[in-house]
Amino acid sequence: MTSANPSIAIVGAGMGGMAVAATLLQAGFDVRVYEQASHFGRIGAGIQMLPNSMKVLRGIGVEKRLREVAFAPYSHLNRVWDTGEVKRELPMPEDLYGAPFLCMHRADLHDALASAVPMERIELNKKLVGLDQDGGPVTLRFADGSTATADAVIGADGVHSVVRSLIVGPDKPIHRGRIAYRAVFDASLMPKAITPSRTKWWGPDRHIVIYYTRADRSELYFVTSVPEAADWVTPESWSAKGDVRELRAAYEGFHEEVRMVLEACPDCHKWAILERDPLPSWSSGRVVLLGDACHPMTPYMAQGAATSIEDAAVLARCLAEARGGSVEGAFRRYEAHRKPRTSRIQAISSANTWMSGGNDDTSWLYGYDAWNAPLDEPAAGAILPQAAA
Ligand code: FAD
Repeated sequence: MTSANPSIAIVGAGMGGMAVAATLLQAGFDVRVYEQASHFGRIGAGIQMLPNSMKVLRGIGVEKRLREVAFAPYSHLNRVWDTGEVKRELPMPEDLYGAPFLCMHRADLHDALASAVPMERIELNKKLVGLDQDGGPVTLRFADGSTATADAVIGADGVHSVVRSLIVGPDKPIHRGRIAYRAVFDASLMPKAITPSRTKWWGPDRHIVIYYTRADRSELYFVTSVPEAADWVTPESWSAKGDVRELRAAYEGFHEEVRMVLEACPDCHKWAILERDPLPSWSSGRVVLLGDACHPMTPYMAQGAATSIEDAAVLARCLAEARGGSVEGAFRRYEAHRKPRTSRIQAISSANTWMSGGNDDTSWLYGYDAWNAPLDEPAAGAILPQAAA
């Protein structure tokens, strides 16, 4: 049994860490976030928030702020790489799944989440290196030699999670030899506007996703997936530069709209695409994982941050309902609800088949409401036994 107001330490102030700090603060918990970085930088990348995560962001209180800055695409549009033929288009009016579909700069999303977490709750320059637990409060050990204690710990420390390796054991994420180039740039560098949707152009062995990131369409983003040698050294930061001429060559023969975007783009970044198979367990005692730390996925369904944000709502609900009771039980309930859904999303993301033409049912993914889904059932999207057979 624990106190009615347990202290909760969150390791990592990325999308998932900030989202769970916000949901737990809202639920009245005593929260502290430990982040290894010295400051929050503005990483040049876009991010899509589909209605499933927008519902959580609405509950956190940042929807209005995001609507003001973000671009609302007309549709989720999938086209053939050279002819431009439409493979599958899903118009995304707000009433379809009860929340908007917004595309934005990654930093605008992070800023919005940070606005819901008072700065005095966040400790920067705190790189976690160790955890000790023996049934009572957990001790966190940091690289600077300092320690902290908390009644429970949430590892939201991303795909290279230290918390994960401490509680599940060390291993390496899977790199299947795919590279993502990406760039955010001034849309006025293009001679004309692009289609006002979020468009994925599907080539035989590569693709590119393009969208505006600002409501006034002044900024454009693209992200690719192309094969590259699996021994390419995986950068640990988002700052590795790519060669824009190599990028243009990789998309030679693509539709003129794609080539116009790549010709206008002044420079780009690149990094290896990493994923993992589902983990056997997300928690050990009073330590639990969230986001990429437990279910890293390829970005092909645009659900990595979204599922981290969903996790945040569900974990706060489980802890709030267990207040004064078992933290360990709350963690098991959270995992039982969430893992079937995130495992399915990991598998579809890995196969890169989502909306590629067929008639995928999108309601289980975008219609899920993490604030109201029944916690004692697997979350929408769980693979039913007969479907899995
Ligand atoms: P992160 O955001 O990686 O945050 C982890 C944090 O933990 C970091 O701040 C890090 O500094 C900190 N940290 C790490 N180790 C330690 C330590 N030892 N001690 C203290 N702090 C530590 N998702 C979407 O939903 N929509 C998209 O459109 C989308 N597009 C994507 C495009 C690309 C190319 C890629 C690669 C990913 C994309 N994603 C998208 C996925 C999304 O970026 C991730 O899933 C999301 O950032 C995961 O959030 P997180 O909080 O779990 O991890």
